[in-house]
Amino acid sequence: MDSTKTGEIISLCRKSKGMTQKQLAELLCISEKTVSKWETGGGCPDISMLEALADTLGINVNDLLKGEISMGTNNSGNMHKIKFYTCPECSNILTSTNEAVISCCGHSLSPAEAKKPDDKHTYTAESVEDELYIELAHPMEKSHYITFAAYVTSDRVELHKLYPEQNASFRIKKRGIGELYICCSEDGLFCEYIR
Ligand SMILES: [Zn+2]
Ligand SMILES: [Zn+2]
Repeated sequence: MDSTKTGEIISLCRKSKGMTQKQLAELLCISEKTVSKWETGGGCPDISMLEALADTLGINVNDLLKGEISMGTNNSGNMHKIKFYTCPECSNILTSTNEAVISCCGHSLSPAEAKKPDDKHTYTAESVEDELYIELAHPMEKSHYITFAAYVTSDRVELHKLYPEQNASFRIKKRGIGELYICCSEDGLFCEYIR
């Protein structure tokens, strides 16, 4: 366990849930000082504590130990494993959360490989009460536009279909830390954290 990384993820997840250190400490029946020590990397949570802590933070124990939220590979059986497929013929968007053979219009489709975002394929988020207003920094021309965006948390996928010559923006209800997938008609699929 890397105490600095683990500390960072504890702090990040706690804040994304709108919890203070004191509230988290109370939920776990420990002292506020202990939480603060973890978050500054001054100590690691006791093994017996890990499951309750991960649970409270809404992440899995593995992610807590590694200090990062895994992007779709190690989380068996939940939405973080989601894969996206786009049919080149009819632009149908299909998803699967496990190994699958997907076909559409007579094509067998392979899942899009999600890349780390660059400046053009990223988002800005503005918090409006319990919602996030997402705006994508990308042109929306017929020849090059964002085809869809998806907000993925462990139990849900929210898909927003986007169209050329319309705004590349939409609203999502805040549901904590997740991934935002952005699919570009020319450049493929991008994925980054959102909270
Ligand atoms: Zn099709
Ligand atoms: Zn693009």
